[in-house]
Amino acid sequence: MNADPTTATVPSVLGPVVDVCADLYRWGWAENHAGNLSYRLTDAELAAFPVSDQARGATFESPFPELAGASFLVTAAGSPFRLLVKEPTRHTGVITISADGSAYTVVWGFDGDKRPTSELPAHLRGHQERAKVEPDNRVIMHCHPTNVVALTHVHPLDEAELTRSLWASNSETILAIPRGVGLLPWMVCGTDLIGIESAAKLREASIVIWACHGVLVAGRSVQDAMGVVESVEKAAKTYLLTRGGDRRSITDDQLRELAAAFGIEPPARFLP
Ligand SMILES: [Zn+2]
Repeated sequence: MNADPTTATVPSVLGPVVDVCADLYRWGWAENHAGNLSYRLTDAELAAFPVSDQARGATFESPFPELAGASFLVTAAGSPFRLLVKEPTRHTGVITISADGSAYTVVWGFDGDKRPTSELPAHLRGHQERAKVEPDNRVIMHCHPTNVVALTHVHPLDEAELTRSLWASNSETILAIPRGVGLLPWMVCGTDLIGIESAAKLREASIVIWACHGVLVAGRSVQDAMGVVESVEKAAKTYLLTRGGDRRSITDDQLRELAAAFGIEPPARFLP
């Protein structure tokens, strides 16, 4: 297995995943060990990975029966995205969920005894719930977009108010996140609880903001997921740059005009 993601011997699905992890690092949204990503593989994509001889795996604390038999490309625990791009076979791997959803087996990657991200249960819960409203969803991604995190330090932690502030910052934000954002208060990360609460939010919106921490985002592709993060980050940055003075944001009537022009039906709790 060649570790160079540009060669033809590497499954083609790996390239976009490595690229997006590199971008997240470069933009400062996945510093140090931050950031993790999981990608649900199709059967054809799975077949492109040479099965390794590693018989590693683990049992879940709570099973995922709805994901039985599914396979995921997942980033490794404690792997800096800065290094992932250099050694994807070490810092990513493919797992397959058992027939009863109670355990997983590593079928490729995670060289050097690496393991899937410690946030794996939160990711799998996210995949399980998001698939109920978006059957084509493939990606769950976590990162620390700086301005989004900063916004949660100064903005009221109200889902509708925060969504409106983001929509009102840039005309295209409502197009990128027509269902608004999910918002969770500060919580201890890496716990089952934040995974359960986030998965519930992903039934309503494609992105969940964790106050004073980061985001969990879902998408049909890594580009879709990244696009949502970029749009929300831009809106958050614009909000923060214009905070304090006399602000002239996009009005509610203008938001309704945008929604009508692009066939968007904003949830009434965000835009009455
Ligand atoms: Zn984090």
